[in-house]
Amino acid sequence: MLDGAVLILNQNYEPLNVCDVRRALILMIRDKAQPIELSTEKINAVSESFAVPSVIRLLSMVRRPVLAQKLSRKEVFWRDNFTCQYCGQKTYDLTLDHVVPRVLKGPHIWENVVAACVQCNHRKAGRTPLQAKMQLLSIPSTPKANPYDHLMHRALPPEWSIYLPWVRKEPQSSPRGFNYYSAIA
Ligand SMILES: [Zn+2]
Repeated sequence: MLDGAVLILNQNYEPLNVCDVRRALILMIRDKAQPIELSTEKINAVSESFAVPSVIRLLSMVRRPVLAQKLSRKEVFWRDNFTCQYCGQKTYDLTLDHVVPRVLKGPHIWENVVAACVQCNHRKAGRTPLQAKMQLLSIPSTPKANPYDHLMHRALPPEWSIYLPWVRKEPQSSPRGFNYYSAIA
């Protein structure tokens, strides 16, 4: 139970991170954090039992580190909104296209990769957009890191939802197993 997940809010109630109950209790004992929501679990100590926190809030503001977004196929598709950057087709059947192809020493960086459908990638082949007479819908760039990355791909307890901006928008009907992707879809 000490391994249970606890949502940490910044002093301004912004979701900041997730820690385990053990870490949350240490933060509370050291007066670094206060409990905001309690879970239904209880810990039985020697002389008393106390409720386990589910959401805690830091008592002083923590600056969120600005993380660089890691370059991966999946992240490029998300950045490009699952849209082929040549023909504009929205599809999940995408490939990663190097704008200046690898054979022409095009680098593997955010600014040189785009989502392309299979047909467009095939048509463009080892050429630049100019050589292939294909125009990009937009200039590729490095996306901002998602500050809520650590909250993706995990089940979110219902009592967390009011603190998570993307969940807050819609009423919670299926609390357990709520997932980031279904929340934004
Ligand atoms: Zn296409």
